[in-house]
Amino acid sequence: MKIQHIHGLAPLYTNTFLIITDAGHGILVDAAAAPQTYLDALKTQGAQLTHILLTHGHYDHVGAVAELRKATGCKVYMDPVDAVGSQMQPLTKELVDEPWPANGELKIDELTFKIYHTPGHTPGSVCLVCGNCMFSGDTLFAGSCGRTDLPGGSMVQMQQSLSLLAALPLPDDVNVLPGHEAFSTLGRERRSNPYLNGAWF
Ligand SMILES: [Zn+2]
Repeated sequence: MKIQHIHGLAPLYTNTFLIITDAGHGILVDAAAAPQTYLDALKTQGAQLTHILLTHGHYDHVGAVAELRKATGCKVYMDPVDAVGSQMQPLTKELVDEPWPANGELKIDELTFKIYHTPGHTPGSVCLVCGNCMFSGDTLFAGSCGRTDLPGGSMVQMQQSLSLLAALPLPDDVNVLPGHEAFSTLGRERRSNPYLNGAWF
């Protein structure tokens, strides 16, 4: 497995990630930027896009989904509750091929993604754990957490979701790869993030 960080466009600079399996299949975690950015990255890696995994439905994480799906026939996974068809959450249910598996595990080639439902930023937010990486979307940021004041947001749910993440049986050296800004590790967040270490509660 290879993983490449692809910076989104100004002004939001959403982090997205391209994962390439040993078989050369491309998996995007969020798809925010212009579709061509991703198609170019896939071409450079010699990979074929097969899956888009969406941490949530906000426009700055899904902007390239419709065109990429049309161009490649890839499957799109998201919690359908975030497919609202609004300006803020533009995807409609027709553009989401699969909800997350009920058993919380998605297997793609040699990889297993563990799916943790973490509502609070949006009702359909998830965090994905694959190997030593946690893709935390807009739920957990380095030193902070996502906002809860947008439509569908809930501070109570965010607190529950962050408690769940803090207590996961994962080692401290798991990389935390959020939807915006800096990367971190789970250990650093457990120790110093006031939203995760109990200071907030
Ligand atoms: Zn968001």
